Amino acid sequence: MTVTARPLVAGNWKMNGLRASLPEALSLVERLASGPAPACEIMICPPATLVSRLAEKVSGTPVRIGGQDCHADATGAHTGDVSAEMLADAGASAVIVGHSERRTDHGETDEQVNAKARAAWRAGLVAILCIGETEAERRGGKTLDVLSSQIAGSVPSGATAANSVIAYEPVWAIGSGLTPSVKDVAEAHAHIRAKLGAALGKKEAEAMRILYGGSVKPGNAAELMGIANVNGALVGGASLKATDFDGIINAYRR
Ligand code: PEP
Repeated sequence: MTVTARPLVAGNWKMNGLRASLPEALSLVERLASGPAPACEIMICPPATLVSRLAEKVSGTPVRIGGQDCHADATGAHTGDVSAEMLADAGASAVIVGHSERRTDHGETDEQVNAKARAAWRAGLVAILCIGETEAERRGGKTLDVLSSQIAGSVPSGATAANSVIAYEPVWAIGSGLTPSVKDVAEAHAHIRAKLGAALGKKEAEAMRILYGGSVKPGNAAELMGIANVNGALVGGASLKATDFDGIINAYRR
């Protein structure tokens, strides 16, 4: 594995960030933006309503802002949707696509996720493409097959290490406090890297960052981030608590 880009720790705020809970989250963003740079890239993915506010806050600092989803079209009659171009306009440099909550809550298919990733590139954004098995699929011994099929369907040809990041997020680990064993994470990430190699060529696959996501906390971050082929984390719940997110980034502070 020859990933040369810095690892990425991205916080997914999901549908959180009401005025009452904002001060703590904003003060963390300020601290991250002004503190000494860790050996990883830091990104916050707030709800669309906060993208421009946060982008202004971190402007000129190494902290990046990402969206949580985008429509495949650039503009048009799609009430309630946000396009990749609009996120880029608001100051985002990346967007999460195919998060399991989108796949479950909105029935998003691999084909739609694929179109969203291409929309992200069209707007100049990095696509953070999420894949991962459900609990039933893991129990049924289907994890690697599910990952293969999601990569085949969701990752467009033309994906490069510069325009895409893969996030492996076992659905059953998201928000549950459960994480796969070190061996299982290593197996999944090695499999993802091999499948990316077959689809995109060895050079891009070896340089592409593959994040782990699912109940990453300060107490398990160093172990998870130390696994072969794990090039950072996608963090949900813990990214809203200043001390927790900071504690996860500590895995990349020496
Ligand atoms: C996520 O939703 O992407 C996620 C990883 O959530 P959590 O860290 O809360 O498990």
